[in-house]
Amino acid sequence: MNIRDKLKRPIKDLRISVIDKCNFRCPYCMPKDIFGERYQFLKNDELLSFDEIYNITNIFSKIGVEKLRITGGEPLLRKELPVLIQKLKSIDNIKEIALTTNGFLLKKHAKDLKEAGMDRLTVSLDSLNSESYKKLNGQNLDLDRTLEAIEYSNLLGFENIKINCVVMKGINENQIIDLAEFGRKNNIIVRYIEYMDVGNINGWKPEHVVSAKDIINIIEKKYKLTPLDSNYYGEVASRYGFSDGLGEIGIISSVSKPFCSDCTRSRITADGQMYTCLFTNSGHDLRTAIRSEKLDDFEQYVKSIWENRTDQYSVLRSKGKLESDKVEMFKIGG
Ligand code: SF4
Repeated sequence: MNIRDKLKRPIKDLRISVIDKCNFRCPYCMPKDIFGERYQFLKNDELLSFDEIYNITNIFSKIGVEKLRITGGEPLLRKELPVLIQKLKSIDNIKEIALTTNGFLLKKHAKDLKEAGMDRLTVSLDSLNSESYKKLNGQNLDLDRTLEAIEYSNLLGFENIKINCVVMKGINENQIIDLAEFGRKNNIIVRYIEYMDVGNINGWKPEHVVSAKDIINIIEKKYKLTPLDSNYYGEVASRYGFSDGLGEIGIISSVSKPFCSDCTRSRITADGQMYTCLFTNSGHDLRTAIRSEKLDDFEQYVKSIWENRTDQYSVLRSKGKLESDKVEMFKIGG
């Protein structure tokens, strides 16, 4: 079955947040002054269990989902994550499972995740400069551990490892070339993300954005780029190959070139709320429904949520319609 929403978009991707906690305090997502020691994160019994995540994902796979992305908070803080990956991998229609992590704990878990069936890794890395990296993770944590984890994951045989870098004006646009060269040298695809007004607490302003065009101009001062076709319908990043053939980069341009028209993504929070857009504020409670164990009703419930979906926030933003009350990024993991 392949259901479609009101804008005729199929559901193909499910992003599953397995925990709201994180070991970083990135200013644009979980600023330290708000998420201090007293902040109340979800308790264990509020989190979806692995069986519940499995049952929910199984239903989503029946209505068209083929790809899963495991996110957080920081997903590697969820204990025994490989057990969940093995379960999800056993679902027939699921073709690929990817992980988005800040990489700090990756070296410890990479081998078990690979053996459990994890297909792809994306590491969030906003700087290759140790001092700015420490500042940007908000916890003064060292860059080397993340770089070692990327190298080790490469050696383990993870292919097409990606790096996501949120580019913020006056903060880290001076890292664009360094990251591009790191990607060329290590056969890693660097994806530059235009800074977005995710959540309600990062103080985003349009003038903080380094646009896709700016990023290309900065790179082309040193390396010629050639636009590449998307790998598949609904791919988030626009692809550019280095003209000398040494790899490619991606740019996620939600602000300057919205891509809502082929958005096939749904998201689930660690406590079982379904969000049909990164920028919406209305979630749908799946936890109560899945705990009622009426799975036929549940499938109908999920189907109707998607079929009634009309989200296209980035398009509306480009017309000046901004939302003030959105779900926080750390709950749905981007
Ligand atoms: S703004 Fe919402 S609808 Fe548009 S691409 Fe992002 S998640 Fe999809």
